[in-house]
Amino acid sequence: MILALESSCDESAVALFDPARGLVGEWVHSQIALHQPHGGVVPDMATREHLRQFAPLIALAQAKPEFAAVSQIAVTHGPGLAACLAIGGAAAKALALALRVPVVGVNHLRAHAWSTFIAVHAVAPGDFSERMKEYLPHLGLIVSGGNTLLFTIDEARQFTVLASTRDDAAGEALDKGAKLLGLGYPGGPLVEKIGASGKSDAFDFPRGNGPRSELDFSFSGLKTSLRYRLEKMSEEEVAARLTDLCASYQQAVMDALVRKTQVALERRGWRSLGLSGGVANNAVLRAALAAEARRAKVDFFAAQPKHTGDNAGMIAFAAWADSTGVRRAEGLDLGVEPNAPLA
Ligand code: AMP
Ligand code: MG
Repeated sequence: MILALESSCDESAVALFDPARGLVGEWVHSQIALHQPHGGVVPDMATREHLRQFAPLIALAQAKPEFAAVSQIAVTHGPGLAACLAIGGAAAKALALALRVPVVGVNHLRAHAWSTFIAVHAVAPGDFSERMKEYLPHLGLIVSGGNTLLFTIDEARQFTVLASTRDDAAGEALDKGAKLLGLGYPGGPLVEKIGASGKSDAFDFPRGNGPRSELDFSFSGLKTSLRYRLEKMSEEEVAARLTDLCASYQQAVMDALVRKTQVALERRGWRSLGLSGGVANNAVLRAALAAEARRAKVDFFAAQPKHTGDNAGMIAFAAWADSTGVRRAEGLDLGVEPNAPLA
């Protein structure tokens, strides 16, 4: 039984994972409401909120009969906000001491990468490792507020980064666009909701694609293009065309993601495609990538909605599934690594 803790940004989360059954309990406290008035995550406030939230979250896990079987603690060691990571790390070490079990550090990005396989495992936990072989090599796309990454997992479960963003992350581009449009934070879900009744080809925004051979993403030009467009419009015009603006802006972000993924899909005989991170909630993106996967004849696994945003379920799962990636602590010597790369 693995007890996992996640505190890399603005979610405090705890989960219990039984390799023989799957996730048996997941608890998340989101700080979105706390940061909303500030238009983004305020690190100092986030740290203090983690400090307040972990004791009650752990108490909820403790109330489950499965808690008695905990044999390992897993905690996000990076990447993330240093002080936030330190709160989860300190709680994990205290639990490891109290329960006399080992503690391991999990890379948050690798956990996002593995999150697409949580549902695959849950179907038949017993033979997951065998079935996993059918899905490798795997091509994955992580799209969140801080990262945009195309990566691969090969037959030996080794990770390689194929592409990342040269400037803004996809979620960041949506959040910044939403800010320019006068919507709230976080912007991604608002742009999707408002854009749902708009026309996605009403405005022509740049895709930042670059040459076909180049897989890296770039979203800063898109954001600038929206700013220039808005400067040329009156307030009334923006209000009248808000649905079209949202739909078109979102389409530009998603097209860039889909196009690069499509190029990467053609490069090798992948056996599965994964989609994870907060932006993976987006229905337009999910549908477009599912279609690309069908065309390329590979299995498509998108993280379940509860595992797209930050959560501890994926940390627990990665601690178990990603045996080459976890950081085993010598005793309690487990530092944080705010800039830890995926691979
Ligand atoms: P994360 O960094 O993984 O916690 O994810 C947060 C990011 O996901 C933010 O940039 C959000 O705007 C974005 N996001 C959340 N839901 C959606 C959605 N439905 N469509 C697009 N982006 C979204
Ligand atoms: Mg995240």
